[in-house]
Amino acid sequence: MTTTTNSAPNPRHALLTGWGRYPLSESDVYRPDRIAELAAVVTANTSSLIARGAGRAYGDAALNDQNRVVDLTRLNRILAFDATSGLLRCEAGVTIAELIDVFLPRGFFPPVTPGTRFVTLGGSVAADVHGKNHHRDSSLAAHVTWFDLMIASGEVLRCSREENAAFFWATVGGMGLTGVILELELRMRRVESAYLDGESIRARNIDAAIEAFERTDAQYGYSVAWIDCNSGKSALGRSVLNVGNFATLERLPPNLAQNPLSTMPKLSPIVPFDLPGFTLNSLSIRAFNAVIWAFNRDRAAHTIFDWESFFYPLDSIRNWNRIYGRRGFVQYQCVWPPDESRAGLVEVLEAISRSGRGSFLAVLKKFGAQDGLLSFPMPGYTLALDFPVTDGLLEFLDTLDAMVLKRGGRVYLAKDARMSAETFRAMYPNLNRWQTAKTLADPGNRFSSSLSRRLGMTE
Ligand SMILES: Cc1cc2nc3c(=O)[nH]c(=O)nc-3n(C[C@H](O)[C@H](O)[C@H](O)COP(=O)(O)OP(=O)(O)OC[C@H]3O[C@@H](n4cnc5c(N)ncnc54)[C@H](O)[C@@H]3O)c2cc1C
Repeated sequence: MTTTTNSAPNPRHALLTGWGRYPLSESDVYRPDRIAELAAVVTANTSSLIARGAGRAYGDAALNDQNRVVDLTRLNRILAFDATSGLLRCEAGVTIAELIDVFLPRGFFPPVTPGTRFVTLGGSVAADVHGKNHHRDSSLAAHVTWFDLMIASGEVLRCSREENAAFFWATVGGMGLTGVILELELRMRRVESAYLDGESIRARNIDAAIEAFERTDAQYGYSVAWIDCNSGKSALGRSVLNVGNFATLERLPPNLAQNPLSTMPKLSPIVPFDLPGFTLNSLSIRAFNAVIWAFNRDRAAHTIFDWESFFYPLDSIRNWNRIYGRRGFVQYQCVWPPDESRAGLVEVLEAISRSGRGSFLAVLKKFGAQDGLLSFPMPGYTLALDFPVTDGLLEFLDTLDAMVLKRGGRVYLAKDARMSAETFRAMYPNLNRWQTAKTLADPGNRFSSSLSRRLGMTE
């Protein structure tokens, strides 16, 4: 398929960041309304280009400093839906929040969702995002039947497991570097209610947390644990684990069963300005963690969660990324293979505890099977941590990289802002296969980003 030519829309020169607000970058940003305009941007023989969705990648994946960025958020039409099969066709700029607004009241939920719903589907496929059900359902790509990809020539290719399969597998998790995803089809999940029927489990340390994950694994499709990074010794890794399945009608209490698919939005507090960096010093983090722990102390084991607080507790505070102050923050997410997960978790949690760099948010999840050349997940446990940018942080994270790497683990590109090219190469063994597909789709390396240059992804 080829597209008709059109002129590129005028760009706006802008300072951009990812969600962590670190690093800062400067680019010409295009925001096309139509595919033909996008084609003009893609094929223009000027500087390099990277696609951007909602800008929720934490680091520099959707940045292209001193080069061009194309914002896909106006290509956001829902095109078709088949309620029998659950198959949905839509443009890449549609967000998961929009899917929930439209389809949850009709009894369908996205098959995989990250911890925020304010992401586009294009960005989610490009990062091959995982959710709280990865151990059961793998990552988003497993539920995508095909997508249309505009490659560097402006040509649009239908990519699936059968058609242009090499481009399919290089694009899921490929961080926008094979081209621009225009449109896709995915299978939505049928649900009876907007609630999850599950348990909230307190685990006194990391061994108890792993034991609780393993014990509840077969029973619950969704699981996530919040870890107190400031506890040490026998309480190292103490956590609150939330597990659940979408509730069937008969499991709902009568007051909720009356309107089981209600998506009633909650009021969102907004962080209106940058809080000074010292707001998040280790004392305030300690206090926050103690409060969460105490809050969960007396919770009944059986819990009905509403969809919003189970999947998106952070979305209720808009712009929460501002609480880290002007210097921003870095999210560090790593994963270890099953045999190394416990030892890796202990090593990293001890290093954090020793360093005094408490993470405000620390999330533990279990991963299952995974395909894709650069997709982040692998079977095992994954830990995600937020660190405000302070002196010495980058050196400290390098030491965590070495700990993760020696155990066969890896760091997530959608969160990364600072890993070295050498570490990246060692962590992603399928890089050569990915590069072969990248060269076919984009021989002139027109699609490039601050992330891809920092990591030497095309070298
Ligand atoms: C609070 C929070 C929680 C999160 N939780 C999770 C989680 O649980 N699991 C998880 O996997 N991730 C998680 N993330 C990360 C987030 O899901 C990914 O970074 C996702 O890629 C963001 O989508 P986006 O639309 O904002 O894309 P952007 O941040 O704009 O871009 C991300 C990447 O996608 C590429 N891209 C964007 N649109 C297109 C397109 N149309 N075609 C080709 N490439 C494109 C960009 O070039 C870039 O490389 C979380 C992020 C936040 C802020």
